[in-house]
Amino acid sequence: MSRDKHKLLRVDPERLWRRHIDMSKLGSTDRGGVNRAALTIPDVELHLELASWARERNFEVEIDDYGNQFMRRAGSEPQCHALVSGSHSDTQPTGGRFDGISGVLAAMEALEVIDDAQICTRHPIEVVVWNNEEGTRFSPSDMGSAVYVGQTPIERMLAATDDEGVSMAIAVNTLRASIDWAIERQLGTPISAYLELHIEQGPILENENIDIGIVTGIQGTRKFEVRITGEEAHAGTTPESNRQDAFMDAVKVVNALQEIFFDPEDKVRFTIGRFEVSPGSLAVVPGHVLFTIDFRHPENTVLQILGDQIAEVCKKTATRCTTQVVETRSAPSTLFGNVVQEVIEECAKQRTYSFKYLPSGAGHDARYMNSFCPTGMVFVPCRKGISHNEKEYASPDSLAKGAQVVVDSLLMLDGLI
Ligand SMILES: [Zn+2]
Repeated sequence: MSRDKHKLLRVDPERLWRRHIDMSKLGSTDRGGVNRAALTIPDVELHLELASWARERNFEVEIDDYGNQFMRRAGSEPQCHALVSGSHSDTQPTGGRFDGISGVLAAMEALEVIDDAQICTRHPIEVVVWNNEEGTRFSPSDMGSAVYVGQTPIERMLAATDDEGVSMAIAVNTLRASIDWAIERQLGTPISAYLELHIEQGPILENENIDIGIVTGIQGTRKFEVRITGEEAHAGTTPESNRQDAFMDAVKVVNALQEIFFDPEDKVRFTIGRFEVSPGSLAVVPGHVLFTIDFRHPENTVLQILGDQIAEVCKKTATRCTTQVVETRSAPSTLFGNVVQEVIEECAKQRTYSFKYLPSGAGHDARYMNSFCPTGMVFVPCRKGISHNEKEYASPDSLAKGAQVVVDSLLMLDGLI
């Protein structure tokens, strides 16, 4: 197949857009967003829908022990491992219509366009839907990709439970039962290269009117749970001097943490996204506080130095209560290799799309895949950079250009690797 013939392959922008709209109905919210936590009913429905599309075209469907789903168009050379593209299908509780699913739909579009053109690729090409990327239903937010490549032990992840006490193991069984004809996929099955399309989730591409972001790497992150334990007491009878008020100590701890994480260069990302006071009763001095810390930075030394201070700061600052700090997840900054980045650039140039190299502030499954096989990411612009928000929006044109680069890049990688 010549390069010129490849150039004739065109994604179908209308089909791609319609699928975004259809998928957004699974878990849709009143305010135009999506609430689709990992392997809830709408998420399982979405997996089934994708599997049905695959089946119609005789693509194989595979599910691994953690619930990652693969849809595979066969290649011609048995010794070639798959070229894989995709992303995740779960969302934040007030998530948008594009985060994650756009990467899955772009990859599916690629498979279908290649199939329609009856191109015989050397490598199998696969669409992947990684399980539990957002981590809102099952904590910690370790990703299906991390389990797949062996960076996180599967036993611990399968034992995680949601608020109703349902374990990930049960949720994965629900998925398997819904697609009981899917083939078993071994975790860690080799992959030749991984390419993930994602909305940028930042404002740079839109501000500079750029079509395609070529992602250079992903900044590192450390996540913590902080527990502050005092003593519950009667709000009317207990004098201030006798209290072990977990909330009051937590306020001091948060202020102290804010001070050490203050960064004049504004590169530190420090977020307390969850803060629970218990027992949460008007007339009871709180005996317990739990809060989370999400800390990110592009430099691994800063991640280490600041992150390692958290436990000490909590202990020193909480004068009346005890503190416990548990690190729930840690991932260093990652730089993608050149191979896939250069392929993306070449493909963007061939289509005369504007492009820009940029790092990712958000975490993605590609972080874990990078330790496993040549990996790269395509960013497409999203309106005002808004994401993890029901207002999230990417235009049909941006999505189509991104998907086109995914098709072209997979075919170029097929001839290259
Ligand atoms: Zn995402």
